Amino acid sequence: MTTEVLKVTRSGDEGVLPATNTRVLVTEFEYSRPASVEEACSELAEHGDDARLIAGGTDLIVQMKMERLSPARLISLASVSELRGITADDGLTIGATTSVRSVARSAPVLERYTALAEACESFSTVPVMVMATIGGNIRNASPASDSAPALLAFDAVVDLVSKSGERAVALSDLFTGPGKSVIRADELVRSVRLPRCGAETGSAFVKVARVMADISKVAAAVRVVRDGDRITEARIALGSVAPTPLLAMEAAGSLRDKQVDAALLDEAGRIAASESAPITDVRSTDEYRRRIVATIVRDALESAWLRAGGKEIS
Ligand SMILES: Cc1cc2nc3c(=O)[nH]c(=O)nc-3n(C[C@H](O)[C@H](O)[C@H](O)COP(=O)(O)OP(=O)(O)OC[C@H]3O[C@@H](n4cnc5c(N)ncnc54)[C@H](O)[C@@H]3O)c2cc1C
Repeated sequence: MTTEVLKVTRSGDEGVLPATNTRVLVTEFEYSRPASVEEACSELAEHGDDARLIAGGTDLIVQMKMERLSPARLISLASVSELRGITADDGLTIGATTSVRSVARSAPVLERYTALAEACESFSTVPVMVMATIGGNIRNASPASDSAPALLAFDAVVDLVSKSGERAVALSDLFTGPGKSVIRADELVRSVRLPRCGAETGSAFVKVARVMADISKVAAAVRVVRDGDRITEARIALGSVAPTPLLAMEAAGSLRDKQVDAALLDEAGRIAASESAPITDVRSTDEYRRRIVATIVRDALESAWLRAGGKEIS
């Protein structure tokens, strides 16, 4: 019996069928499974652009099935145990191959970095959450990444390692465009670090999507630090409203050292919307996205304020 192979072409190409991710892998590639970060970095250095690291494969395999990427070699991180796990000390260090599901269910994340737990819990379906890793999500550099706004709200720093050395890059300096970042082809994401969160800190993540399992139309993550009835520090980060995950600096600044009431939070939402630069695509219109930013930033701020021990807002 012979297998009939249907050649599906991407929309915009000559063919008639739209892009799908249901095709089989058609290219041949080598597959290796190094046991350490050092070995993985040596392989990356040796094979250069022909190679790709693979963690959960939830982005990479889709790209390969759609023939957007055809790496000659896949370097699996599955056996590199030093990249997996969460260490909570003064702050938090999350190994790159820690699954999104593990982050969502981690006690210190739930307790102190609630917005990150909520962001990871909002990921698609359980099978994707179990496979997908935090390092893969960062490296993928999608404007619609769910972890990125939450990590930005916590001032996260990404640890990169290559055969030629190590460096730490603030997440706010990492993304340069859709799918683009300052991470070099020979670099591996080792971990992401979140600074300490004090007692009077509250955070929240809100995502709006077409259906639960979809990536966001718009997402917002916020973190506030409270002193009495005031916010002394705030970070507001947005997803799916700009070419990269975005920090709404002006909106955050508008909250600083102000007494918290409904008008203050409404105004911060409006400012965040004005800082966003959304586009119209298959998921939503730019106008809808901008409106929703105002609403979800306001809602996230109220949740974060209450979690920081603030009084109910009338
Ligand atoms: C059905 C479906 C639903 C999805 N839903 C969501 C969602 O709701 N929210 C969301 O944010 N994303 C979503 N995604 C995207 C995807 O699941 C995430 O981006 C995921 O975190 C990627 O991690 P991974 O381990 O699977 O990466 P992989 O696919 O293994 O790798 C992705 C890229 O990162 C590189 N890479 C992986 N690990 C490292 C590392 N340690 N160092 C350097 N480079 C590395 C790979 O070479 C590749 O280029 C979805 C994907 C699918 C298929």
